[in-house]
Amino acid sequence: MSEELIGAVYIVSAILFVFGLKLLGSPATAVRGNQLSTLGMLVAVVVTLGSTDIIDYRWIAIAAALGAVVGIVAAQRVAMTGMPEMVALFNGSGGLASLLVGWAALGMEGAEGDSQSAFTIITVLLSILIGGVTFSGSLVAWAKLSETMPSGAISFPGQQFVSLILLVATIGCGAAMLAQPDAGTAMLVYAVIALSVLLGVMAVIPIGGADMPVVISLLNSYSGLAACAAGLAINNTILIVAGALVGAAGIILTNIMCKAMNRSLSNVLFSGFTASKSAAKVEGEVKPISPDDAYLILEAASSVVMVPGYGMAVAQAQHVVRELGELLEEHGTEVSYAIHPVAGRMPGHMNVLLAEANVPYDQLIEMDDINRRIENVDVAIVIGANDVVNPAAREDENSPIYGMPIINVDQARTVFVLKRSMASGFSGVDNPLFFKENTRMLFGDAKQSISHMIAEFKG
Ligand code: NDP
Repeated sequence: MSEELIGAVYIVSAILFVFGLKLLGSPATAVRGNQLSTLGMLVAVVVTLGSTDIIDYRWIAIAAALGAVVGIVAAQRVAMTGMPEMVALFNGSGGLASLLVGWAALGMEGAEGDSQSAFTIITVLLSILIGGVTFSGSLVAWAKLSETMPSGAISFPGQQFVSLILLVATIGCGAAMLAQPDAGTAMLVYAVIALSVLLGVMAVIPIGGADMPVVISLLNSYSGLAACAAGLAINNTILIVAGALVGAAGIILTNIMCKAMNRSLSNVLFSGFTASKSAAKVEGEVKPISPDDAYLILEAASSVVMVPGYGMAVAQAQHVVRELGELLEEHGTEVSYAIHPVAGRMPGHMNVLLAEANVPYDQLIEMDDINRRIENVDVAIVIGANDVVNPAAREDENSPIYGMPIINVDQARTVFVLKRSMASGFSGVDNPLFFKENTRMLFGDAKQSISHMIAEFKG
């Protein structure tokens, strides 16, 4: 296939990506956006395979078959609750792929004695550095999300200094490669790979609990930037365009997440929600309620706000939540769903679950809008949410989550908290909401508790 034809088809593929991204902006068009982007990727892959630079298809066929099998099996097996971990692994795979492409671009064996241009060396270094950081950082994020390792911040004295040394050493190796492009660079490349993988671990372990949404979206952005650098290294237009799109979209998402946490990016990356702050001790009397009694209060309510969180995903309660909402509406109650931007374990997690359960999109209300009218709400039903409704973020200056905007459910007339125990949320911070005068704790699995209330409504 001629270079001109490949270039022209790459433009078509890039246009499909851009329109796909645009359509992802609304739930009504998101599925079509996804299909368009997938088509764009298929076109890009097929046309790349037509390149005259490829002299042997065997390894490509083996890798493509392996990738397809792993992808299909993983996508079919993953539970809805495992999606955030899967997204973290996807980011990591993107980073690793860019690292390998960058490394291959250097033509390790053939380059002994061959001179590489400064541009190639710089782009290769960037793809290895950003790709390596994304790969190991995403693995740590996966471990924290799956609670294979503790979700809290892990820190030790001199941590930032160690990270600085690693970064300086990486830059040093890069400078040495640039200074002597003709000399054997294999050892230096190995060093840069090892250092960038270590840097990724060092960057993510000190970030814990409630700060993780920012890290996930930032790693997503890095995976795009690494691909962009790899595209520059091998002079592949579509890799540059696709990488830039992912990088830019990830940065925008990171910004949205920072705003949702009311924190600056540098504050998240360099100070962390460290364990040094200790929140005021939370104690008091808890008022449990049974589903039968909760039903009686709901029956008399004229407005109800559902506030979903990660526990709704665990319980897979989204369908019964929608059913309860419909029953309440038939009963004449005004129902809405309050969405906190960082609820769950991945950006947009609650929107995805509620859309899956066919909750009308116009009933989803953003945090600021619901907070403006929460005082007039009769009952706020907290379904497996914890950190995103924790009033300590508003009231306790010593709390590690102080300053994070929350859904002010404690200001509703009555609050039902549906969860299994008194355990804290992902940030590990105790929640004074459970002891408030107007709070009733409905202990148990959220799906079972809601099903019980539905049965009462149906008589
Ligand atoms: P939390 O993690 O704070 O709390 C979830 C609660 O759900 C737990 O306290 C748990 O309590 C309860 N729960 C678990 N299973 C069930 C069940 N089957 N039935 C009923 N309740 C259940 O969730 P939030 O959504 O409030 O907050 C999200 C947290 O995750 C924030 O700290 C956020 O920063 C962080 N995060 C968010 C990401 C994102 O992109 N959205 C990414 C990474 C982290 P119990 O065990 O007692 O039932």
